[in-house]
Amino acid sequence: MCRHLGYVGPVTSVRDLLHFGSHSLVRQSWAPKEMRGGGTINADGFGAAWWSGGVLGRYRSVSPIWSDPTVEETLSHVHSGAVIAAVRSATEGMAVEIGACAPFVDDRFALSHNGVVVRWPAAVTSLAEGIPAVQLLTMPAPTDSALLWTLLRDRLETMSPESAVATVVHDVSFLAHGSKLNLLLGDGNEMWATAWGHSLYALVDESSALIASEPLDDSPGWEQIPDRALVCARPGHLIITPIQMGER
Ligand code: GLN
Repeated sequence: MCRHLGYVGPVTSVRDLLHFGSHSLVRQSWAPKEMRGGGTINADGFGAAWWSGGVLGRYRSVSPIWSDPTVEETLSHVHSGAVIAAVRSATEGMAVEIGACAPFVDDRFALSHNGVVVRWPAAVTSLAEGIPAVQLLTMPAPTDSALLWTLLRDRLETMSPESAVATVVHDVSFLAHGSKLNLLLGDGNEMWATAWGHSLYALVDESSALIASEPLDDSPGWEQIPDRALVCARPGHLIITPIQMGER
C-alpha cells in the first residue's frame, strides 16, 4: 500500500522533506516496513503538494521517486512550510498513470489515500450516485482513491474537514466492509488523517507536525495512531478521536 507524509512547520525544501530521516518517504518507497500485505514496494509514481504564499503547488510523476531527477533538480528549490506527499503502489487492476498519483488537489486542499476500497467499484456505486455528474465525469482517474477524493470534495462544500474525512471513511467502510482507508488531507495550516486498516504515526511539537505511514526516524516522540481513528494535527496540536461505526 502506498505510503504518505504530511508536514506543517518551519519552511523547508520539498526535496529535504521527502528525504528527511533515516526512514524517509524516499526510503519507504523501496524499503517500507509495515505494508501489511498490501504490496512490497511503492514504485508506481509519487507526488507532492505544497502551499506557498497561499497558493497550492504540486508535482507528480509516474516514475518511482528514487529515479525521478526532478526531486533533486527542482524540488530542492521549492520551499514550503506545509507539504502532503505520497509514493504509490497501485492496487491490482487500478490504472498506473499520472492522474492516479496522489496528492489530489483543488485550490485549497490536498489529499492522499493509502489503502483500497474492496469490491471496487460495485460496492460504492450508491455513494457515486449522490455526487453531481460533472464531478464524477472530471474525476482525476478511474481509481478508488480518486473516487474518495471526489466524495470528499463534494462534502467539503458543506462540512468541516474533520466531518468530511470521518464521514467518507464511515460511509465507504459501511458499504465496502474490509476496505483500508487511511486518508491524509491538508490545507496548508492543518492536517486531518485517518488510520483505518493501515499504519499511521504522528510527531508533533510546538513548532512542527508530521504525520506519516511509518516513522521517519528513531525519535521517541512518534505516536502510533490506533486503528479506526481520526487525527487532527498542526504545530502544538494533536487530537486523536475514535471513528465510530453506526447505521446511516
Ligand atoms: N488503491 C489506491 C491506488 O491504487 C491506493 C494504493 C495504495 O495505497 N497502495 O492508487
